Amino acid sequence: MLYYNNEIDQKLPKLLEYFANGIVDENKNISHCLLFWGPDITSQCELALEVARLLNCSEDKSKTCECLNCRWIKEQAHPAVKIYTRLDFKEAGGASDDEDSTKGKKNINIGQAKAIINELAVTSDYHRVYIFCDRDEDGNLLPLNQMNFPEATSNALLKTFEEPPKNTTFIFLTKDKSDIISTVVSRAQAFFVPGVKEENEEYSLVEGVIGNYWTIARNDVLEFETTLMKLVAENEPKEIFTQMQNYLLAMIKSNLNNKHLYYRFVEDLGYVEEAKRQISLTPMMNLQTVVENLSFKMILK
Ligand SMILES: [Zn+2]
Repeated sequence: MLYYNNEIDQKLPKLLEYFANGIVDENKNISHCLLFWGPDITSQCELALEVARLLNCSEDKSKTCECLNCRWIKEQAHPAVKIYTRLDFKEAGGASDDEDSTKGKKNINIGQAKAIINELAVTSDYHRVYIFCDRDEDGNLLPLNQMNFPEATSNALLKTFEEPPKNTTFIFLTKDKSDIISTVVSRAQAFFVPGVKEENEEYSLVEGVIGNYWTIARNDVLEFETTLMKLVAENEPKEIFTQMQNYLLAMIKSNLNNKHLYYRFVEDLGYVEEAKRQISLTPMMNLQTVVENLSFKMILK
């Protein structure tokens, strides 16, 4: 599975500019321990690989650079730039690195921590970048948490994180800073990485309430209504409806092949549009009524 994205400079322009400037400017001092957090692990990994490229490029660091380091990183074949997950480690001293040895493996363990320490004891001509995250068997990237990157492993590596050998950078990918033990967080420079969605496609405020709403049973419509009402009341109602639309649009895009859901989302998108119109009327329609109508239309199919 390849994670390098040549368009990352357009996806995360500000963050990338920060790193690009920091890497060329000796005074800016980019930490050797970076923690990326946010909803979108794939973007974080793409950013991490681009940072690794900037650190290793032997020519002008431009995105079209064809130097060996850049080519290796784009192909994810660089000997010193590694994505480490619980499934991508060879056991220290283990004879085989075949699939079986990692099957059902729950976390990055101490054996692997020791392997990293040993590896770092040997000097390298490259800038080593170790990207820590998790993935499933299909290669989908997942965030680190205290299950897959347990305290014992973190502790075994703590000294290394604190004083790594020259030209070594560690990057941790996680959803929330609280998912990583605090001793690691305190040693890292943390950056929030926004999701793939541009700001106007944001739906973080509503995701907790309407995420997977099509799985809500008809009997639970009142409960859905109550939670949605609370959300609308505690925020700018228009913003909530806009985010609901963003969410539905994202669902439409990812369910193009599921006719049943696709039509449901398209229909619901219309209902949210209607609710949005109702709250912008003067006099404004009663908010409770608007939310009630919307909830019933979305859940009682
Ligand atoms: Zn290059």
